[in-house]
Amino acid sequence: MGIDNARLRRRYELRLKKILVVGIVIGVVGGILPSIIVGKVRSSIQKKKYETEITSLTKEKEKLTKEAKAKKETVEAANLSVEKLSSEDSDWSLVLVNESHPLDTGYTPEVAAITEGQFVDARIQEETAKMLEDAAAEGLNMYVVSAYRDYETQRGVFNTTMVDWINQGYSPLDAYDETKKSVAVPGTSEHATGLALDIVSSTYDALDEQQAETAEAKWLAENCWKYGFILRYPVSKSDVTGIVFEPWHYRYVGKDVAKEIMEQNITLEEYLEQ
Ligand SMILES: [Zn+2]
Repeated sequence: MGIDNARLRRRYELRLKKILVVGIVIGVVGGILPSIIVGKVRSSIQKKKYETEITSLTKEKEKLTKEAKAKKETVEAANLSVEKLSSEDSDWSLVLVNESHPLDTGYTPEVAAITEGQFVDARIQEETAKMLEDAAAEGLNMYVVSAYRDYETQRGVFNTTMVDWINQGYSPLDAYDETKKSVAVPGTSEHATGLALDIVSSTYDALDEQQAETAEAKWLAENCWKYGFILRYPVSKSDVTGIVFEPWHYRYVGKDVAKEIMEQNITLEEYLEQ
């Protein structure tokens, strides 16, 4: 019996050891495995996060590069416009200034007065005066509402018009879009060149489509080219010019080009593309 007891105890002790070892193994594995798994999951989440961040940073970089490029192109175009306006050859009168062809905001032409308080590029003063005189000689009554406008003045006109739209209930964004249709965004106005004039009838001085019905507007539309002017924003051409029909806005381009443009019923944009 003594032997049996001793064997039993050894077996018991062995079993106890086994349980202990298994217990330790389970404890160790049970403790480490979850932390390994948690660590793996965590690092894969982290990796995803980094990947997302890198993607958004790359996108941001691309956007900034694109913006910088557009800005550079705008500045180059603006400089080019100034260069053209200041050139000695006849190209100066063909400078294109519109939403996609801004003019350097610092450009100041040499101006000459045409009527009280109204100035044009000195190079077109004679032709402009002649046009107004000839019209008057025909018994027409017209006057220049606006000619050369510097950047600040243009900004004032734009802001006033935008406030009008806002007061009519438009949101600032919509008001901006509406304003853009009839007033050039500062920096993109032809009035800053000194080559553009707004002329209205003394009997009807509103800047709207009805202006086209006045005897003065009709005479100007028919005769302006003889003095080197074109009706810059004709009816049904706003998709090309970006500006609504303005039967009062005249632009000097020189006699030959003016004749061609008015005869063909095209815009300056279309002429320059030919
Ligand atoms: Zn105008």
